[in-house]
Amino acid sequence: MKKRTKILATIGPSSDSLDMLIQLINAGVNVFRLNFSHGTHEQHLIVLQRIHEAMKITGLVVGVLQDISGPKIRIGDLKEDFFLEENDTLIFSALEILGQQLSHNVYQVSINYPEILKQLNMGDYIYLYDGTIRTKVTEINEKGVKVNVENAGTLSSKKGVNFPNTRLGVDVLTNKDKKDIEWGVKNSVDFMAISFVQSAQDMKNARAIVKSHGGQQKLIAKIEKFDAIENIDEIIEASDGLMVARGDLGIEVPYYEVPNLQKILIGKANAASIPVITATQMLISMTKNERATRAEISDIANAVMDGTDAVMLSEESAVGENPVLAVETMSNTIVETEKFYKYYRYSGYTNKDIGDTISESAVRLANDVDVKGIFAITSSGASVRKLTRYKPKKTIYAITHNSIVRGQMSLLWGVIPLMSVDESSLQHVVNKFMKRGLKEGSIKKENSYILTAGDPIGKAGSTNMIRVISSEDMKEFT
Ligand code: ATP
Ligand code: MG
Ligand code: MG
Repeated sequence: MKKRTKILATIGPSSDSLDMLIQLINAGVNVFRLNFSHGTHEQHLIVLQRIHEAMKITGLVVGVLQDISGPKIRIGDLKEDFFLEENDTLIFSALEILGQQLSHNVYQVSINYPEILKQLNMGDYIYLYDGTIRTKVTEINEKGVKVNVENAGTLSSKKGVNFPNTRLGVDVLTNKDKKDIEWGVKNSVDFMAISFVQSAQDMKNARAIVKSHGGQQKLIAKIEKFDAIENIDEIIEASDGLMVARGDLGIEVPYYEVPNLQKILIGKANAASIPVITATQMLISMTKNERATRAEISDIANAVMDGTDAVMLSEESAVGENPVLAVETMSNTIVETEKFYKYYRYSGYTNKDIGDTISESAVRLANDVDVKGIFAITSSGASVRKLTRYKPKKTIYAITHNSIVRGQMSLLWGVIPLMSVDESSLQHVVNKFMKRGLKEGSIKKENSYILTAGDPIGKAGSTNMIRVISSEDMKEFT
């Protein structure tokens, strides 16, 4: 599949079988998201093993992103879905109960942080399910809080609850999160997404926990709090990637600010050479319907044009009717949009080191001499991240001997992660890699390519050369 923008798919009951995972990879998924708001460690482990098996069967590389839930306020389990109508009454119980309908238009639910109910005032708004259901507090007593439902909507188990602009306690990592991070390190996930980040310190705390277990996961900051927007530059410094988590973000800030914020966040992540994911409600109608709305297709196309590295599916692939069709819809939209894409973006970037300058030059050269692709030999992935920010039209083939780095490059725009032969000298790596590519047919002898590498190889951040491998030079490898 010739698409540059990557696809993340959340795995859930609709998509966790081996057969589905294989179909999803073939349809264009690059990274699977395991949402630790849902499911047990045992369940996630089974899925992880299936993902590894699916990679072997398809021969394709996919990454795994573990979404660390954070202190997300949620309702508890429901006996059955609630089909709420306008002016129905919903009771948030301070006790742990199974949510159920009490009478014709009265419903009761529990909440995972009942303490928060004490902080509410009459007339406060409470939002549910990524803001799709709006309610207003009408009664407060020791047993709980009564709200009036202001718009119809369907509520199911464990949906999120938002109290706009409430400041969370200092630590966004709960005890559960800490155990989940330990699990992620032990099972070698590629990325961890940290929810409700408010400052760089939150990312540093998460990183310290990862390090304490010996992990080297890439940490993605989910931008979904007002404070995160305020502190975005320091958060970027402390993060390996961003997620524009539009669900909660669109409640924290006025909904009409989300499109501009998306553009700003993508621009900043691009400039910092870190990957950025655009998430939530991209194809929400496909959770139930065969066809996406025109608006949803436009949303994907616009995120792609904005320069996002990846677009994400949540319930569409986790609990939707047809996860494969949702991925195909995304893939088709991406491929078409990339025909009309603004490649070669040089403006607005500053070169902070030699690596930046070499990357820029390599991309310019790739365009000027019209090569077929860029081979980038990397040990940490940093040089490849630097290449992608220029959005070259030529495919970047990232060659590494490190399987962790390979998985982590699955998220990068325009990059095909490959494994190299483990050789001691650059000469040998290039020789073996070219010979193998020519034999397998992935490299063609009539084409020319750009190669970037650090010589001697194997040292992170040491990229110091660009070579043009012309079709004439190909003879050397045949
Ligand atoms: P987040 O704020 O982290 O995105 P979320 O509750 O919105 O949390 P998503 O992963 O976006 O979760 O998925 C949307 C919905 O799909 C969830 O609210 C839940 O109903 C359902 N879902 C997702 N993953 C699972 C799962 N593993 N098991 C059951 N239901 C799931
Ligand atoms: Mg969220
Ligand atoms: Mg969500």
